[in-house]
Amino acid sequence: MREKLYKKCPRCGEKTFINAKTCDGCKLVFARMEFASNKKAKQEIKAGRGKENVIKSREMPKDINRWKLLLICLFGGLVGAHNIYIGRYIKGFFSMFFILLTAILVLLVPSATVANAFNAFLFIPAAAVVYFWFYDMLMIGLGKYKIPVALDMPSADKPVEVVKDEQK
Ligand SMILES: [Zn+2]
Repeated sequence: MREKLYKKCPRCGEKTFINAKTCDGCKLVFARMEFASNKKAKQEIKAGRGKENVIKSREMPKDINRWKLLLICLFGGLVGAHNIYIGRYIKGFFSMFFILLTAILVLLVPSATVANAFNAFLFIPAAAVVYFWFYDMLMIGLGKYKIPVALDMPSADKPVEVVKDEQK
């Protein structure tokens, strides 16, 4: 059997040697991914520290089950449930808003009105939501979906460190 020589960085996708400790591309310290947590990421995002402390990882954090996420996406993804579940709140609520708006238009407004240009314009975001729903489902299935993670280090008194800024 051929030995695996390379691995892909879970954040930027750069190829590095299998035993490399940091990513050449984005300086991610691979060992720290062991502490990657989606739960922690959601806390950071809610606290407004998403920009500094959260990265998007292709590697599934320990606290996210891929099959559960796939099921959430399958049944609730049209209204952004999987986005909200992993902490992509803005995208999730946009999905929900446009799908509900479109549904209300289709159900309550006479079809002649729905067909006019103004309403057709509103269908574009809904179409985008449907597209991302299928796209996300495919990515989760393939294990390429990016999930927000933050470091949940054992030393609780220390502030959460930024993964990308490994000082030289
Ligand atoms: Zn990288």
